[in-house]
Amino acid sequence: MTGRTHDLAALNTLAFVAIIADGGGSITLSTLLVALLANQIGGIAPDIDQPTAPFWRNLPIGGYFGRIIDRMLGGHRFITHSLIGLGLFAFLSNMLLHFLHPIMRSVDIDLVWIAFIVGMVSHLIMDTFTKEGVPWLLPIPIKFGIPPIKALRIVTGKKMEKFIFTLLVAIDIWLIAMNYDHLLRLFHARII
Ligand SMILES: [Zn+2]
Repeated sequence: MTGRTHDLAALNTLAFVAIIADGGGSITLSTLLVALLANQIGGIAPDIDQPTAPFWRNLPIGGYFGRIIDRMLGGHRFITHSLIGLGLFAFLSNMLLHFLHPIMRSVDIDLVWIAFIVGMVSHLIMDTFTKEGVPWLLPIPIKFGIPPIKALRIVTGKKMEKFIFTLLVAIDIWLIAMNYDHLLRLFHARII
């Protein structure tokens, strides 16, 4: 699965969660922006175990660090693509956000944290539909995939992924169109 599909899937999932879980409270503009950023980082974070991942490509000597991290984490689609990895990331990101909170007081770090987790979960779900599958239950070394027949799953960068990408764009437009009034109210009254 390519980085841009993951980015889009993360955003889709976040929009979906935001629409469903509308608590009625207001959020600051800085919370919204930081949450979106955290969501996108969460959407590609599991692929830090891949030296060629977008996460590393965008850093100056990222390829080098990527290879080291790759070895440490047991290779591609290992610990970062499991529930244990998810728990670990959730814990570490929570610590980091609490550490950073004093320099961004107007940001609701709990919401930012949720956006990050949502992005990460969307990544694992998307990868489950690919040929390689996801070792959700590590240390049990089984890679799960949907559908169970490998031949029917998505191959990264191939036609099916392009179709999924288009589908995600369509879902995005549909989500916005269906909830237009709701989103408008959110932007008018709740973002401060
Ligand atoms: Zn992945």
